[in-house]
Amino acid sequence: MRCLASFPMLRPLAASPSGSGRFVFGRFVFGTLTLGLIMLVVSGCSDGSDQSEDNNSDSSAGTTNEAQASASLLATTSIWADVTTQLTCGQVEVGSLIPAGADPHSFEPALADRASIDEADLIVANGLGLEGGLGPVLEGSSAPVVWLGGQVDVASNDGGDEQSDPHIWMDPEVVMNAIPTIAKAMNEAEIADPDTIARCSADYLDKLEQLDADTAASIGSIPEDDRNIVTGHRALTPFAERYGLDVVATVLASVDSLHESTPAHLSDVVKTIQDDDVQGIFVDEFQYSPDVDAVAREAGGVPVIGLYLESLGGPDTGASSYLDLISTDAALIVGALT
Ligand SMILES: [Zn+2]
Repeated sequence: MRCLASFPMLRPLAASPSGSGRFVFGRFVFGTLTLGLIMLVVSGCSDGSDQSEDNNSDSSAGTTNEAQASASLLATTSIWADVTTQLTCGQVEVGSLIPAGADPHSFEPALADRASIDEADLIVANGLGLEGGLGPVLEGSSAPVVWLGGQVDVASNDGGDEQSDPHIWMDPEVVMNAIPTIAKAMNEAEIADPDTIARCSADYLDKLEQLDADTAASIGSIPEDDRNIVTGHRALTPFAERYGLDVVATVLASVDSLHESTPAHLSDVVKTIQDDDVQGIFVDEFQYSPDVDAVAREAGGVPVIGLYLESLGGPDTGASSYLDLISTDAALIVGALT
């Protein structure tokens, strides 16, 4: 059986479109998230007749099929699951350990996750402390894990920060740099035919290069004076650094989502928004602190814009793949700042 990547789905959020494609959130968004409804949905599966058609067009199909039939390929996040499945052109299913919409920083694996991890042929992990309680479980597993954060050149982490920024996928160049690393690990684990991985990796790299160019052009259309932004935590920082936005403050004073902000910090953020003429606060659609709404209100009603930062969105969000996620986020940012 051939399958595309499998993604857990959420029910739609109570985000209401407001004006030119931007989303403005009320403080009750949290309450509408029903993570209990998350289901693992395997999309794009086809039956055996499809398979035989493809066999005829692929001279190495026998090897590929044998590897696919037995391969158990996992990624920690839905974003890395999507990227990884592109390296076989969707021929090998990639499961996401952290459900879409869940906060990776605070994620704790269940017993069933531990069994899946131990049985996996390869696990693609972000690292740099992103995966919360999942990280130690992966480190203690006998399954092969490729930790991207430790192997991929990450420009945004060259500044000597005390704590590395784990949100490396928000810089498409980092994802491009990660492709050979993932492909090498997939070949070593015999996930699929090497020719298939090489061909699909090259095709996906072309798409990532185009995405990068399009995003640079899109963000480049924002006037220089309108590029000061505030974010929830630092999830958008790699994107901002690549495309020339200036994150002048974060509502949460940490690189992750795990720490409360002090009243003094929140007051500083409000002052920065006013002093630097910030036009929007950009937060993760799936989880953000109620402090965001308080800061937005205190600063005079600055819009709060939900982006897809740490997880793919559902099928109708415009963010159900990594390529679409970056494009949709760029469009929402441009819409808010121009
Ligand atoms: Zn984060």
